[in-house]
Amino acid sequence: MAELFYDDDADLSIIQSKKVAVIGYGSQGHAHALNLRDSGVDVRVGLRDGSPSAAKATDQGLPVKPVADAVAEADVVVVLAPDQVQRHLYRDEIAPNLRDGAALVFGHGFNIRFGYIQPAAGIDVVMIAPKGPGHLVRREYEAGRGVPVIVAVEQDASGGAWDLALSYAKAIGGLRAAGIKTTFTEETETDLFGEQAVLCGGTSQLVQYGFEVLTEAGYQPEVAYFEVLHELKLIVDLMIEGGIAKQRWSVSDTAEYGDYVSGPRVIDPHVKQNMKDVLSDIQSGAFAARFIADQDAGAPEFTALRAKGEAHPIEATGRELRKMFAWIKPTDADYTEGHA
Ligand code: NAD
Ligand code: MG
Ligand code: MG
Ligand code: MG
Ligand code: MG
Repeated sequence: MAELFYDDDADLSIIQSKKVAVIGYGSQGHAHALNLRDSGVDVRVGLRDGSPSAAKATDQGLPVKPVADAVAEADVVVVLAPDQVQRHLYRDEIAPNLRDGAALVFGHGFNIRFGYIQPAAGIDVVMIAPKGPGHLVRREYEAGRGVPVIVAVEQDASGGAWDLALSYAKAIGGLRAAGIKTTFTEETETDLFGEQAVLCGGTSQLVQYGFEVLTEAGYQPEVAYFEVLHELKLIVDLMIEGGIAKQRWSVSDTAEYGDYVSGPRVIDPHVKQNMKDVLSDIQSGAFAARFIADQDAGAPEFTALRAKGEAHPIEATGRELRKMFAWIKPTDADYTEGHA
């Protein structure tokens, strides 16, 4: 059984007694910084010169400084820049300015697990990884709730790294939901696997194939969109509430029977073998090396794949249909379709 932590297991005063620098003000960075601030923590945001995020952080009442300055005055440095940027940022601006006995906090284990960042021995290295997008980390906190977090300690130089990690997890609201003890290795490998095989990769490909099969057979794209994309949320909501069993109880007997007989035809055992191959590439570091090599070359593969995804016909169909949906409001101001 996993080790679980809740608010009563953590001492908020530990993080409240520290100066915290949050590096990066994107999806996770803005949520951590604002939740910490609202939990009574002394927070500054570290951003590179000319960062488009600086105005947003300033508007939201947070002090913004160059990364080097924010790090130099902090007891706790929270690394929430994009994973592919972190090792450059660490080498050039964080490591040279990090105070003796400071702590490093990560939101994902990628750079530690694959050795792209190797902190000095005197530094505490911990991870608080919310199991949800940053915008929900903020929204749930404001609503008095929290997004569950998984918590790990890679290096406990001070002897107080666990208490610090739990205090931080409490301050961002994570322990209102639950904290689960993990390791950097488990978090990194399961997070990459989940997003590649099921949540992002698997689901996106499943939806695109479903849309292609229906439209290639002559059905209207608008009808196909509702059937294979829009309804997915309703199905997943039922799974969250009561597992796959509740979803099957809620749908018609016809749908439930079709689930049993056709699900395993579509997602057949070789898909499970493919998933194992994906996991092997994650564990061996092959995926990480491919991602970082492409990023270091200016991201040609990443950019081409993004453009190909955006050109899929389901996106144009969805864009038109969503204009008619009064109930879907663009709540995430950061998201612009097509990265305009
Ligand atoms: P993001 O892309 O939303 O934002 C990153 C921010 O970093 C930018 O907004 C900017 O403020 C800053 N930045 C960008 N380039 C920089 C540079 N060259 N130098 C300094 N700062 C720079 O990032 P994110 O999705 O919030 O991811 C941050 C970390 O959190 C990653 O480790 C990621 O794996 C982890 N994480 C993210 C989510 C999520 O919901 N997006 C969930 C769990 C964990
Ligand atoms: Mg994840
Ligand atoms: Mg991830
Ligand atoms: Mg239906
Ligand atoms: Mg039923």
